[in-house]
Amino acid sequence: MKYFPLFHHIEHKRCLIVGGGKVALRRVKALVAANAKVHLIAPEILPELQQLIRQHQGQVSRKKVDISSLSIEYFCVIAATNNREVNSDLVKFSNSYGIPVNVVDDQSCCDFIFPSIIDRAPLTVAVSNNGSSPLLSRLLKQQIDAYVPASFGVLSQFVGEHRDHVKSVIPNEKQRKTFWEHVLQGAIGEAIYSGNTEHAKVLLDSALDQPEAYNLQGEVYLIGAGPGDPDLLTLRAFRLLQQSDVVLYDRLVSDGVMALIKPDTETIYVGKRRGKHTVPQVDINQLLVEYAQQGKRVARLKGGDPFIFGRGGEEIEQLLDLGIPFQVVPGITAANGCSSYAGIPLTHRDYAQSVQFVTGQFQDGTTTLNWDELVSPRKTLVFYMGLKSLPVICHSLVTHGMDPEYPVALIEKGTTKSQKILVSSLSKLPDQLDKQTISSPSLLIIGEVVKLHRKLNWY
Ligand code: SAH
Repeated sequence: MKYFPLFHHIEHKRCLIVGGGKVALRRVKALVAANAKVHLIAPEILPELQQLIRQHQGQVSRKKVDISSLSIEYFCVIAATNNREVNSDLVKFSNSYGIPVNVVDDQSCCDFIFPSIIDRAPLTVAVSNNGSSPLLSRLLKQQIDAYVPASFGVLSQFVGEHRDHVKSVIPNEKQRKTFWEHVLQGAIGEAIYSGNTEHAKVLLDSALDQPEAYNLQGEVYLIGAGPGDPDLLTLRAFRLLQQSDVVLYDRLVSDGVMALIKPDTETIYVGKRRGKHTVPQVDINQLLVEYAQQGKRVARLKGGDPFIFGRGGEEIEQLLDLGIPFQVVPGITAANGCSSYAGIPLTHRDYAQSVQFVTGQFQDGTTTLNWDELVSPRKTLVFYMGLKSLPVICHSLVTHGMDPEYPVALIEKGTTKSQKILVSSLSKLPDQLDKQTISSPSLLIIGEVVKLHRKLNWY
């Protein structure tokens, strides 16, 4: 290890940056974020640097001094010019006074280098590869950035604030470690990630009343798996899936999403098929409760978004009644996924000012839909679960006044590699469907926006 990472207390300390270009700008920004005082010397500076000086008067100031007459009271010096002579003078000056120096693009002269920083104050992660590839460090930083929840810093602060108290309640170090593990990876940590620090405090207090029992407390994550493409999962969904002990999933969850689950996680299929419930809803609700009561972290993974035609509401009701902690993670619903991947914007200034999501699943073939309300101009209709009743849908819209030539698109297995799109009109689609082999899951988009498919189809 050539460069040893040290975290410096740099607040209010004076740092000198010589240079007025892009690198200087990056360094000034980093030092400003750390509350350092910055002196900047450069004959010319970027407008962004000028703006920073205006924004942070008193903290960042421009000095018009000659390098040869520099004061020695600097915490560090950064040579960020493209003039070798100036940089070399700065190195000589710094070395003679024992001030650490950093020279841009000349690592041989650097006493220190700048890492890529993941800032979740008070948590800070610094990434460096001894300067061999700043780009690689930045790429790794991006990966860590995506993986560390935005409110990880708040969690760190929360732990810091309660450390002493927890220590006094649980003096045994091993028990305390187990307790903290459950706190950080369980409902309390998740309450903080969801922005509810007050609730986290309430949970912590009640957990401290019975630390042994708390270690047995499970929770449920109701997660939207999106329409198919695993890349459409949210970061939170991915993180929670990784930390789940058991995953209950249904038919619409794609193989790609299932492949992201760790191999040692228990997975249980609770899917349903039309008219044929593999596992009745009450049994699913009961399974969620039972696993959580065993102290497990249970992911209930549902296609699309759990709150759009997903019965997600019913599944959390019972958890709420029993006081089992849970959270709901939204997913990209089929309407959004399919419309994007089919190049059909759901709204458009010229064609549609509103969009309506409608269920096409009619109990016993009868429907209580208000067709007159659906048939209004400049509106996009999206029918979920409408494949079986597609002829009824098309026919009813026409008899209630919609133009038989109105454009429709039927999208099968949207966002996946097997995506198929059939573009047609209200009057023609039912007959065409007979000849084509379109299967479930399929989504029906009705509206003038469908015309844009030909032009905007990109996938
Ligand atoms: N909660 C889900 C919808 C469940 S209802 C969501 O938010 O997307 C099931 C219906 O969703 C299917 O019958 C179909 O109409 C639609 N659907 C889900 N995934 C789809 C996909 N990849 N392509 C096309 N339609 C899809």
